Amino acid sequence: MAGERWTRVPKGPTTRPVIGVLALQGDVREHAAMLERAGARAMPVRRERELSEVDGLVLPGGESTTMSRLLESFELLEPLRARLAQGMPAFGSCAGMILLARQALDGRQDQHQLDAIDMVVRRNAFGRQVDSFESDLDVTGVDGGPLHAVFIRAPWVEKTGDDVEVIARVPHTQEPPAAADRIVAVRQGTVLATAFHPELTGDERVHRLFVGIVQEA
Ligand code: GLN
Repeated sequence: MAGERWTRVPKGPTTRPVIGVLALQGDVREHAAMLERAGARAMPVRRERELSEVDGLVLPGGESTTMSRLLESFELLEPLRARLAQGMPAFGSCAGMILLARQALDGRQDQHQLDAIDMVVRRNAFGRQVDSFESDLDVTGVDGGPLHAVFIRAPWVEKTGDDVEVIARVPHTQEPPAAADRIVAVRQGTVLATAFHPELTGDERVHRLFVGIVQEA
């Protein structure tokens, strides 16, 4: 897992923020590569000490129920909650989005929620009709034209609180009609979440958005 892509350098004199990637499961390397391209130093986070060293954290896709259990067994759940409560910027994609939500529908009873974004998400929401699909989205805060988005057994956001900014929806022409206009990217303060996988398309604009959020924080 520890590939040569990782920059194992603590905070240096440069302005590159150190951004961790929760490395329990999922697209860890892909996120790290995109973060580095977007101007950050990426490091894997599996331990509480590592969590304490980062300026922000990416929670990758995978399986939210599994990641929830692994957060517990790695004794990261409470430290992560504490850092989020202190305002650490975070970006969750897909399963990461589910973890960051206040509530997950169609989840497991014992699945932990980090409650960093005041939203209710539905797991595998598109799945009953379209398991995986791709779509071009306009994302608020991402310039340079539509973003090609890959959805893999993705959630959608069913409900958002007043402090949550909706930054992307599925186009209203998307089939089936149940998928059209669904909320698939949100931001609440310094916490960002996408239902899709921006680490898979070679387009680092979402990671740039997050690196910018971390730099401003
Ligand atoms: N369906 C997964 C979950 O519920 C998320 C899928 C993904 O991250 N690609 O956690």
